[in-house]
Formats: sequence, structure tokens, C-alpha cells
Amino acid sequence: MTNKLKYFVGNWKMFGDFTSFKIINKISNYFIRNLNTNNIKVILCVPNTLIYFFKQKMKSQTISLGAQNCHHYQDYGPFTGNVNAKMLKNSGANYIILGHSENRAIGESNKLIKIKIDSALKSNLTVILCIGETLKEKRSKKTFRVLKKQITSCISKNQNLSKIIIAYEPVWSIGSNKILKSEELKKIIHYIKFQYVKTFRTKKQPLVLYGGSVNEKNIKFFSPISEIDGFLIGGASQSAKKFIAIIKNYYK
Ligand code: PEP
Repeated sequence: MTNKLKYFVGNWKMFGDFTSFKIINKISNYFIRNLNTNNIKVILCVPNTLIYFFKQKMKSQTISLGAQNCHHYQDYGPFTGNVNAKMLKNSGANYIILGHSENRAIGESNKLIKIKIDSALKSNLTVILCIGETLKEKRSKKTFRVLKKQITSCISKNQNLSKIIIAYEPVWSIGSNKILKSEELKKIIHYIKFQYVKTFRTKKQPLVLYGGSVNEKNIKFFSPISEIDGFLIGGASQSAKKFIAIIKNYYK
């Protein structure tokens, strides 16, 4: 078993109501009884409607809460239906997913994502920035080009880099039950770390999570790939049983 800190981040997407607290409670109880909190960080990114409620109900702070997107504007403003990073921080979020492909697909550009990152960092949220290629880009061998563009356009050297985590999520892998071959995944994670260090002239490598169809059955495949700093888990994080099994099986 590795001693390196690993992140297990759940992305609930558009799922859950107040009764879903039982999911967090089960994960939290398992965590307290069985896991080493120095080695494992659990973050659940839930709908905005649940952040404050969950934060109030949680007895221990072993699990951190995150949001899944925000408006780019830093202050209050005429943006019907939106919330900004500051409001999410005030609700109890400490993390935020930005640049998720489901939001890029409905028009979020790298430029807009960068402004959102600026705003989230100003509100003292840790950003989980999703990057990844589409199937078309993969087939036309543009993966590295796309990742480089996403890294260099969404992040800048003057941002607080220590509060940005990258999640590599190949778009074609999300919710599809398809995952990369081990060698290919290693190469891509290396490339992301290399490109980041080179672009931002930093000695500190970024944390890079993998996301895309991670479940309790395939998690073992990722255990030997020490370059991966953790996982962004969508569908399977909506079930306490599956989420716990992912963590358990990863360390088996
Ligand atoms: C996601 O939505 O970030 C994700 C990784 O989804 P899934 O695990 O369901 O593929």
C-alpha cells in the first residue's frame, strides 16, 4: 500500500436531496473507522442546494465538500439562476470543480474557465480543473495538443498554483465504461505534469487526478500507477457502497 496522499473526489452531478445525507454519513463512518486520514483525502462535490445542509449536519470534518461550477463574476450581479464562488465558499464548500466537460460541451471556453478559476481562488476555494480530449481529438491524435492548450489557457503563473488540482478526464471515458490502457494513461499523466512544470516554471509538480468511468471493479487497475494522485468519480460516487468499495479495492 502506498503512503502517498491520495484523493478520492466524488462528483455527484445533478443528483441528491436532503435524504442523501445518509450517503455522506456512511462514507464518513467508514472513513473514521477504517482509513488513515493522513493518506486519504475524501471530497464530495455535491449540488449547491445541499452544501450548507450537509456542512451543518456533518459531525466530523473528515470529508470535505465541494461545488461543481460557479459563475465567473466575483460579486453579486444581475445573473439570474447563478451563484458565484464567494457564495459557495460561504455555504461551506472548500473545493470546486471547474472546466468539467459537461459544462465545456454547453459553451464554456478555456478563457471563461480561467476567469472562474481566478474568482474561485479569490474566494479561497481549491480548484479541481478538469481537462481532457474528446474522442474525435483522440482519434486525430490531438490529445497532447488539447491538454497543453487547456493547461496554458486556464491556468496562469500568477495564480495560487498550490490551490489548483488537475483532473485528467478523457471526455470519451466519462460515463462510458471505457478506460485507457495503462501505458497510455501513464504517458498522459507524465505529460500533464511535465507541461505544467515547464509552462509555469515551478519545481512543484501539480496533483493530477484521473476521472472517467472509475468504479469498484476497475479501480485495482489504477493502483500500480503511482503517478496518479487520486480520482474524480462521477456515477459511482452517488452510492456509499460503491464509493467505499472503490477506496477499499484500491488499497487491496
Ligand atoms: C465525472 O463526471 O467527472 C466522471 C468522472 O463521471 P463517471 O465517473 O461517471 O465517468
